[in-house]
Amino acid sequence: MLSCKETTELLSDSLEAQLPLVQRWAMKMHLVICANCRRYRRHLLFMHKIMGAQKQLRVLPEQARLRIKEKLEESVRRPRI
Ligand SMILES: [Zn+2]
Repeated sequence: MLSCKETTELLSDSLEAQLPLVQRWAMKMHLVICANCRRYRRHLLFMHKIMGAQKQLRVLPEQARLRIKEKLEESVRRPRI
């Protein structure tokens, strides 16, 4: 059984490239029993998604980027009901 440290390292590696089947299987088995690593995985995937969105934002023309930034800031300032 993998340790939490080994699992988190594999989770990070799995974002870069597909892991061998044995490692993926061991990682999944650990995730079944470990809530902390499942939580870590959720955060890692969320951060990965945000980073991907930021990369896409960088290739947009300046005007579009500013408009999106304004909309995001506006949505943060807007009080929630
Ligand atoms: Zn764990």
